[in-house]
Amino acid sequence: MEKSKYRILILGGGAGGISLAARLARSVSPDQIAIVDPAESHFYQPMWTIAGAGLVPKETTRKKQSTLIPHGVTWLRETVISVDPGNKKVKLSHDLSIEYDYLVVATGLRLAWEKIEGLEGNLGKNGICTVYDYNQVDYTAQQIQRFQGGTAIFVMPPVPIKCAGAPQKIMYLAENVFRLNGVRHKSKVIFATAGKAMFGIPTFSNALAEIVKEKGIEPKYMHKISGVDAEKKEAIFDVTDADGKVTKQSLKFDLLHVVPPMTAHSYVAESGLAFEAGDQKGWLEVDKHTLQHLKYPEIFGIGDVTGVPNSKTGAAVRSQYPVVAENLLAVMSGKKPTASYNGYSSCPLITEIGKVMLAEFGYDGKLMPTFPLDPAVPRKMMWHLKKDILPHLYWQVMLRGWA
Ligand SMILES: Cc1cc2nc3c(=O)[nH]c(=O)nc-3n(C[C@H](O)[C@H](O)[C@H](O)COP(=O)(O)OP(=O)(O)OC[C@H]3O[C@@H](n4cnc5c(N)ncnc54)[C@H](O)[C@@H]3O)c2cc1C
Repeated sequence: MEKSKYRILILGGGAGGISLAARLARSVSPDQIAIVDPAESHFYQPMWTIAGAGLVPKETTRKKQSTLIPHGVTWLRETVISVDPGNKKVKLSHDLSIEYDYLVVATGLRLAWEKIEGLEGNLGKNGICTVYDYNQVDYTAQQIQRFQGGTAIFVMPPVPIKCAGAPQKIMYLAENVFRLNGVRHKSKVIFATAGKAMFGIPTFSNALAEIVKEKGIEPKYMHKISGVDAEKKEAIFDVTDADGKVTKQSLKFDLLHVVPPMTAHSYVAESGLAFEAGDQKGWLEVDKHTLQHLKYPEIFGIGDVTGVPNSKTGAAVRSQYPVVAENLLAVMSGKKPTASYNGYSSCPLITEIGKVMLAEFGYDGKLMPTFPLDPAVPRKMMWHLKKDILPHLYWQVMLRGWA
């Protein structure tokens, strides 16, 4: 039965929201916990890159949300409109209002497609594709598998985005498919990135720069996509030169894999819950170690929405949610939050079909490898980890709150 007040209200039932609810439900009576999320489906997004190359059906990444809500926890199938943190109330769709004692914000992030001029209505047409949207995954696979040669451009927007490795993972898979299909010799593959390097951490960036060289992929640094002319099949970039001067440049494409800039949902800032300035402007204002809100001690954050200087991934969520659970329970019993998140994130960088470079790191780019192996070497065993083991761990272990 739905109530008008919950002891713990969790906004968002994605990777973070479900895992946390499952963990908390072992310490707190589940009828005191509610999750707000309108989505009927829950996705294992990390598999969208492999599905987008046509190597697994996209349907394997989707489950019904109703099968994942922990037993006894209430699921409110509504959208969060705003939070009134002073009065501990959340306004939901259908004019509903719910009160809480403790709140966890876990609504992920928003893909800001509108920031790429001319893109609206053209995704899924004229060779413009993406693996960042479940509904575009099949079209992407079709474009890659049926590519007959020409120019394929893979775009990387400015960070933060979720899984900053995915825009190049799909490129390596596509390049491999072009070779298998005998069209590589008549294809030009371009990686157009807003950044100055292939990745944010030198160990991996240097290794990836070698890999693109070996594969004959052309990196174009400081190229920020700003628009698309779908009819002419041209992508428009803001290109920054060494002196900081920005000029517009158009590149013709036959296939364009596009990834937009990303932001937190607007209700976060509009409700006074976001950083107002600095690098984390617009993202949830939490302490980067305890994940407790800096202004409202009864509010915590988890996952992509948090304004912490990590890399936004499901792997980060896996490290964060036990910390949030422990700290929330401490605060609920009048203690200080002492559990600490170290910034851990992981990006299994697929470099070809069957090989993955497992990048694992924490705050300040500190390398945090799980295995006693050189992390910058792509390996077959990491491909099996990524493709076969991690999805199982996600559905069966993480979403059940076992970390
Ligand atoms: C193509 C791709 C590849 C990726 N690859 C990897 C990888 O290899 N490894 C890895 O670790 N991570 C990867 N990720 C990232 C990973 O999926 C995310 O970082 C992770 O899902 C974040 O969890 P979250 O709970 O913060 O957000 P999400 O899992 O996105 O969940 C957010 C939830 O909030 C709900 N919501 C949104 N707005 C509202 C609202 N207003 N009201 C109520 N509910 C709302 C949504 O419906 C959703 O269910 C990838 C992502 C993509 C797209």
